[in-house]
Parts: sequence; structure tokens; C-alpha cells
Amino acid sequence: MTYVITSPCTDVKDRSCVDVCPVDCIHDSGSQMVIDPVECIDCGACVPECPVEAIFFETDVPDGERESVARAESFFGQGNG
Ligand code: SF4
Repeated sequence: MTYVITSPCTDVKDRSCVDVCPVDCIHDSGSQMVIDPVECIDCGACVPECPVEAIFFETDVPDGERESVARAESFFGQGNG
């Protein structure tokens, strides 16, 4: 389990989260920022920094945003065996 950045980040990419992340695990995937699920230490520091409230703990990701979880795993090569 880890934190996930959802679709409100798309084309916003404020990057306030990047500035506060202690392990530099938030990367630019192109259209939006994504959190490396392996590197993230689940500190939650990024959540209140996001101006569009796009960051959720994985189990709290809204139903309509579940694909954000798969996108992050795919971007970092997770979930492919
Ligand atoms: Fe970085 Fe902490 Fe946010 Fe994970 S929860 S992305 S470690 S700031």
C-alpha cells in the first residue's frame, strides 16, 4: 500500500508535493505526477500540499480513480510479474 496521485493532477502538476517528499519518489510521467509505490514511505507529507487534492492513500482512492493505481504501478514497472 502506498499513496497515489489521481486525475486532478493532470495538466496541473503543481509540484508542491515534490518539494516536500523526503525520499524524492514523486516523478513526472508526462501528463501528471506519479508516486513510485516502492520508494514511497507512506509519510503523507505530500497530501496537504496538493492544491487540487489529488493525492490519496491507496485504499482511499475514489472508485472512479482506481486506474490511477494501475497507472502508477505500470509507470514504475510494478504489477507485471
Ligand atoms: Fe513522498 Fe511521503 Fe508523499 Fe510518499 S507519502 S510520496 S514518501 S511525501
